[in-house]
Amino acid sequence: VEEGVSSVYAAPGQRGSIADYRPRYGHYIGGEFVEPIRGQYFENISPVNGKPFTEVGRGTVEDIDRAVDVAWQAFATWGKTSPTERSNVLLKIADRIEANLEAIAVAETWENGKPVRETLAADIPLALDHFRYFAGVLRAQEGGISQLDEDTVAYHFHEPLGVVGQIIPWNFPILMAVWKLAPALAAGNCIVLKPAEQTPASILFLIDIIGDLIPPGVLNIVNGFGIEAGAPLAQHKKIRKVAFTGETTTGRLIMQYASQNLIPVTLELGGKSPNVFFEDVARADDSFYDKALEGFSFFALNNGEVCTCPSRALIQRSIYDRFLGDGLQRVKAIKQGNPLDPETMIGAQASNDQLEKILSYIDIGKQGGAKLLVGGERADLGGDLTDGYYMQPTIFEGTNDMRIFQEEIFGPVLSVTSFDDFDDAISIANDTLYGLGAGVWSRDMNTAYRAGRAIEAGRVWTNTYHQYPAHAAFGGYKQSGIGRENHLKMLDHYQQTKNLLVSYAEGAMGFF
Ligand code: NAD
Repeated sequence: VEEGVSSVYAAPGQRGSIADYRPRYGHYIGGEFVEPIRGQYFENISPVNGKPFTEVGRGTVEDIDRAVDVAWQAFATWGKTSPTERSNVLLKIADRIEANLEAIAVAETWENGKPVRETLAADIPLALDHFRYFAGVLRAQEGGISQLDEDTVAYHFHEPLGVVGQIIPWNFPILMAVWKLAPALAAGNCIVLKPAEQTPASILFLIDIIGDLIPPGVLNIVNGFGIEAGAPLAQHKKIRKVAFTGETTTGRLIMQYASQNLIPVTLELGGKSPNVFFEDVARADDSFYDKALEGFSFFALNNGEVCTCPSRALIQRSIYDRFLGDGLQRVKAIKQGNPLDPETMIGAQASNDQLEKILSYIDIGKQGGAKLLVGGERADLGGDLTDGYYMQPTIFEGTNDMRIFQEEIFGPVLSVTSFDDFDDAISIANDTLYGLGAGVWSRDMNTAYRAGRAIEAGRVWTNTYHQYPAHAAFGGYKQSGIGRENHLKMLDHYQQTKNLLVSYAEGAMGFF
């Protein structure tokens, strides 16, 4: 326990603590923790204080081979379970997570640096609801029967794919894993999952809590680095699908790997999401205006480490000065501090590399001619937090052709610009390689609707932002990805359709 780092969440036990992590984790294969075959481990550092707190197995191709084989053995049974049986497993997992919500939320905050008020209120509740949602829709899913003629019937069955590979990033270590795990398990697949090397442990912390509820071998976790463990998984000849969340450049590689085996991919990639404020939001100084100002500040949620981060604010010129002025006041009031403190609104970036990357973009912004309006520096919070990876919320003003408007920074950095009218707003919003998320703010639902339809993005929030319910489809247009997550549509990505075409006719067809 790091004395003084948190008075609230430091004591081992019920409420969660960094001391509740095991000092060392192997891979989770066949329902137990096993040593990596090459015997190597790597250190896991907490961004809260910059200190190592656990070691994790450094997986290689041998570990991936072992996990895939074990998963296929388990599939012989799991793949034949009924939807009701699997649904019950998912419901039990959700209940167990709910009973341990605080400990899991605190563990994830220690590993990722995001504020505990987010992990408590969003990440972990959303994760457990995901299991409940897929437990429910699974039982409502029906196959189809088509009557082809009086004596011939086509039956359609949903069958699992087999063993699937899943590779996830570090920004929502548990939620991004659960987005993939819940539908894959619901559909009857067995899984080999590789977490991100920056946040390998909170998913293992979760496994210590829920592992006994899942039959051995159905869910396997091999940790390690992208090239050493991720690539052998995505290239593996015996997996039937690869699901990936991460950078667009890595997504391209994953697709190349998968093409060698002709297996399907789902890719959830990067973004540069526009948040568009039409002039009528400032028509009155009321609660709607206040809501829009909060919407402007949402670039700082999860320390800006969100694929859908509304990292470009587009403000109509007629309200630009007033709205931006009020927005800046709102952002200056964001309370930065120890992420373990429930009052903290912005915590630490997930890794030192990420902090360095964000700082390099501050230089890129300045050199590109953008005007720094607030922030722009590493935040030194003093005491035990001095070595943590803290970044001030930052706002630049500029134009959409600048690199800070075009490239994903993945930190609490907002680039603001103005637009003249509806068409101008849509053209700036769509002037990016990405198409993941967007926000549209207007009191006029006709304007909001038309903007929502015109923006090329898989998810357009209207008069809200950063809500991720299990029953709303999520995914990217353009270079932000392929396929969708969440929603019952997701089951299609983890199932294949078996068609049994049956003749009940008594006689021959008459061709021969
Ligand atoms: P990343 O691509 O560097 O790494 C993601 C995962 O891929 C990690 O587990 C990594 O080890 C693995 N990996 C890296 N190289 C690999 C290779 N050659 N073969 C196989 N696996 C490999 O991404 P990141 O920096 O961890 O995550 C941040 C990115 O994720 C951002 O671009 C963000 O927008 C994106 N993201 C997207 C979504 C979404 O739903 N669209 C959600 C969260 C994050």
